[in-house]
Amino acid sequence: MLIVEDDPRIASFLVKGLEAEGWSTTVADDAPAAIEHVRARANELDFVLLDLGLPGGTGQEVLRAVRSRSATLPVVIVTAKAEVDDKVTGLDLGANDYITKPFAFEELLARIRAALRTDQRTSTELTFGDLRLDLLSKIAWRAGRRIDLSQREWALLELFMRRPTHVISRARILSQVWEYSHEAGSNVVDVYVGYLRRKLNRPGLDPLLETVRGSGYRLVSPAAPEQPDS
Ligand code: CA
Repeated sequence: MLIVEDDPRIASFLVKGLEAEGWSTTVADDAPAAIEHVRARANELDFVLLDLGLPGGTGQEVLRAVRSRSATLPVVIVTAKAEVDDKVTGLDLGANDYITKPFAFEELLARIRAALRTDQRTSTELTFGDLRLDLLSKIAWRAGRRIDLSQREWALLELFMRRPTHVISRARILSQVWEYSHEAGSNVVDVYVGYLRRKLNRPGLDPLLETVRGSGYRLVSPAAPEQPDS
């Protein structure tokens, strides 16, 4: 996640809170740094939190840079009340949502989840290797064979399919699939990854879900070469 915020206290608050939720974060504290980051690393980004009032430029310029690289990357504007008119401009330029400072962290998390769901509606199919997900009918196929998944298994697989080859932490999975944080030690994620593995695996086909010890899990493709993680 890219956090574009020039107020160091707010940036630090966001980084701490979001990393506890399993996001990996990068902060850009002015418009040129944010634009440069978007240009260089747009395909590694999974989310942008965007302040509008920035040194060296505007949030709108950053948003334009984001949209010129990706039509679907979720962007939530985190803005001061004084910038209220800018919110409309932001939404016109293609932000998914906005939240006004000061805000409760729980509300921000809810907006992030909503923006991710909106993003999920913008395409109807995800494919990776021999896996295919039809997002409208919520049906998955592997190597042409239909796989029946429970609601949780589906949400888990969709999360992996949106960030193939990237390590996704247990905290991130809990936050996005279960929408709340379990106490440490809960093994619900591991249990569901186990269910998913059993359903995805078939004799003669390579395993797709890899455990990354101490970090989480990632979807690997037998058909694609390994890619470096961001
Ligand atoms: Ca600002």
